[in-house]
Amino acid sequence: MGDLRFCPACGAGLERRRPAGDSHERLVCSACGRIHYENPRLIVGSVCLHDRRILLCRRAIAPRRGLWTIPAGFLELGESPEEGAAREAFEEARARIRIRGLLAVYSVRRIGQVQLVYLAGLEDPTIDPGPESLEVRLFAPERIPWRELAFPTVRWALERALRLDPGDGPPVPVANPGGCDPEELPPEGGGPA
Ligand SMILES: [Zn+2]
Repeated sequence: MGDLRFCPACGAGLERRRPAGDSHERLVCSACGRIHYENPRLIVGSVCLHDRRILLCRRAIAPRRGLWTIPAGFLELGESPEEGAAREAFEEARARIRIRGLLAVYSVRRIGQVQLVYLAGLEDPTIDPGPESLEVRLFAPERIPWRELAFPTVRWALERALRLDPGDGPPVPVANPGGCDPEELPPEGGGPA
């Protein structure tokens, strides 16, 4: 966080200090005094199901290249979270999805992210790797590569989705299991408990 070094308004150097009356340290321009707020970023993604199988993408990009993830990425300005999740599914797996509901809201404090993960269905089983994926595949639950998942929140989302009863209707969204940050947990999971 905090890669910004120069004021986008006037080009002068930024310094980190607490403005009068503020609760947090901020990046403040040493010349024009403008405050450049830094806030968490929103990631949107989806667990996409087709006939009880789950879409995973093997990452072609850093970080965690070669490991498996659900389609997810940064929400863009001008789109709703659902639109963003659908766009990511198409970009990364050429998948057309229908959102069924919000599955989870995960907080990843260390890297300043809030992740919205949806449950979705594939409109059809046609999938194909986009430029950010080496490979895309539909996994039966018992074939999910639990030890080759890219991120702890991917494991959480898959575990959550697999515990749902398909007849239950839209999911009830959950937060981080146990209220933990992902880095507080053992790095590799063995699948749903
Ligand atoms: Zn400035």
